[in-house]
Amino acid sequence: MRAARYHGPKDVRIEEIEPDTVGPDDVRIAVQACGICGSDLGEYGGGPITIPEEPHPVTGERLPITIGHEISGTVTQVGGSVDIPVGTNVVINPIIWCGSCRYCDEGKYRLCESGGFVGLSGGGGGFAENVVVSAEKVVPIPDAVPLDQAALVEPFTVGVHAVSQSELEAGDSVAVFGSGPIGLTVVQAAVAAGAAPVYVSEPRDARRARASECGATEVMDPTEVDPVEIIRDRTDGGIDVAFEVAGVESSAKQAITAVKSGGTTTIVSLFEETVGIDPNDIVMPETTVVGTAAYQGGPLSGREFGTTIRNVATGVFDPSPLVTSEIGLENIVKEGFERLLDAQSEEMKILVRP
Ligand SMILES: [Zn+2]
Ligand SMILES: [Zn+2]
Repeated sequence: MRAARYHGPKDVRIEEIEPDTVGPDDVRIAVQACGICGSDLGEYGGGPITIPEEPHPVTGERLPITIGHEISGTVTQVGGSVDIPVGTNVVINPIIWCGSCRYCDEGKYRLCESGGFVGLSGGGGGFAENVVVSAEKVVPIPDAVPLDQAALVEPFTVGVHAVSQSELEAGDSVAVFGSGPIGLTVVQAAVAAGAAPVYVSEPRDARRARASECGATEVMDPTEVDPVEIIRDRTDGGIDVAFEVAGVESSAKQAITAVKSGGTTTIVSLFEETVGIDPNDIVMPETTVVGTAAYQGGPLSGREFGTTIRNVATGVFDPSPLVTSEIGLENIVKEGFERLLDAQSEEMKILVRP
């Protein structure tokens, strides 16, 4: 089968490889769509970051590996111990876990000491004609969720988990700094959780427009105005919950200083560089800064994914404002990674159809 394999920075090749075999607990999925994630882009542009150069402790694989983890598709083959019918439409929870460390014991599979992701750590990937994963990673989707939209379930669940980590309550005011694809899922998940108003700060015009489509109450351009000043002004001195989803120093500082005393800043981004923040901005107002990584995985794969799937099925979440292009596997480098690296491009989420 054809698969996009990562060999190194700026070196992703479409290659003919042997499909993985299906073990007793496994499921083979014909991939319908797989989104290009910011983490894939980071690997392409400047990796390897999480892609293993030495054999991964769980998968035993090292580069070159097949990439892609935002996967939807249809089950075409199952192992003897699996009760998912062939023909079922599904998404994959890509978290890889060891099953024997302290975090796996606590059910926090996303924090596994030897963890990883399908499509980054070995174990196949979604930029391929098919992928074989253990049945525990497979989450069925109802007919109400088309397979193209289903490829957005994974990034939306990042937003669901971020909102859960923030402990925001209905009626809380929210500010989201950065409205790329994950920022937009945070906006929609916050709105779904009853947050109001929801302010968004984002320098790119096209991304601000999409934030409005996703339910933002007010959007602002931090290159034109001071978002912290505006937010503090609108909210009697500070927001209840802020989300940092841009991954740069200015937005980190803004997200920390926009919250009210006793409020919460949730850091969603992965940062490429160390940034300077003033701890006094946290100490004096007794605010809380929390991190959020991925979502529940392992044997709990269906929990937060299930929340997302129900919200997409009922129209509470709308994936359409996130998707800007659909491309074939053979065009993944030129029309996928290279376009996303172009700062002038208005691309958000590109879906690859293997
Ligand atoms: Zn992703
Ligand atoms: Zn573990």
